[in-house]
Amino acid sequence: MKNFVKAMDRNASGFAYLKQKFSSISEAKIEEGIFVGPQIRELQQDGNFQNSLNEVEAAAWNSFRKVCKIFLGSVKVENYRDIVNDLLLSYKALGCNMSLKIHFLHSHLDFFPDNLGAVRDEHGERFHQDISSMEKRYQAPPDLRRKKSTSNLLSKIKANTKLPINTVLEIPPPTRLISRNPAWVADENVDLKEEWRNRWSNLAIANKDLVEDPNTKPPGYNLPRRTWSTLNRIRTSTGRCNYLLNKWNMSPDQNCDCGQIQTMHHILRDCPRRFFQGTLGDIHRCTEEALEWIRHLDIPL
Ligand SMILES: [Zn+2]
Repeated sequence: MKNFVKAMDRNASGFAYLKQKFSSISEAKIEEGIFVGPQIRELQQDGNFQNSLNEVEAAAWNSFRKVCKIFLGSVKVENYRDIVNDLLLSYKALGCNMSLKIHFLHSHLDFFPDNLGAVRDEHGERFHQDISSMEKRYQAPPDLRRKKSTSNLLSKIKANTKLPINTVLEIPPPTRLISRNPAWVADENVDLKEEWRNRWSNLAIANKDLVEDPNTKPPGYNLPRRTWSTLNRIRTSTGRCNYLLNKWNMSPDQNCDCGQIQTMHHILRDCPRRFFQGTLGDIHRCTEEALEWIRHLDIPL
């Protein structure tokens, strides 16, 4: 949908009709082709839109509608191969940018099983399972996970030599802008855990040495939220101690009731009224004594 709208003739009647029909949507969104499902469905049933398109646009629009129908319905259409091919050709005629996704769709033409809709449901179920088991793991930052997922896609494509997209990947198009990172320049063998470990070891943050491997869950993960958050505030040396509250203009006084400046370190190590007898490592590992101390701490960190 997005690729189609972006390639439409800005001065022709089709685009004008789009702007008029969705007058409540900002022009920028329309130009970028950002529509939600119900809007796309509404447009697909709108004969007037169809009539306002020029010949090339109408051909592409028709192919798009057909592809939507076969992929979103659960009935296999005999000639789906031709339909997807038509989409590619008519989009090409329109001058659309072909994203890797569309090429991938094309490459997989021969691999669709008989009942597409049912498979989609299975995929949904599978996806849900994958996601829920993934959430249980301790995760690397999003940009690293994106990199990993691109590398997975690439190695999956390359492993299947029958896919037509491989001929494109052998001689990839030249990169025009250095700011762009097309998928084909990506590394196929990304070790997500290793990369996350490296990034973690180069970070400049307080007490980072407590965590040896950021891929593993830190201890105390299952504690009640209040204990868990206090624990992490001590780990990161950032909490509602008077010194920081004062720095944030939230308290007139930076001193502890014992008379010294109340930093996180002071509360944990030096405060005669409440210091912890163990080490920061004990707190991190959630020893019984540490949890007991956190529960009885009279300062709400
Ligand atoms: Zn004190």
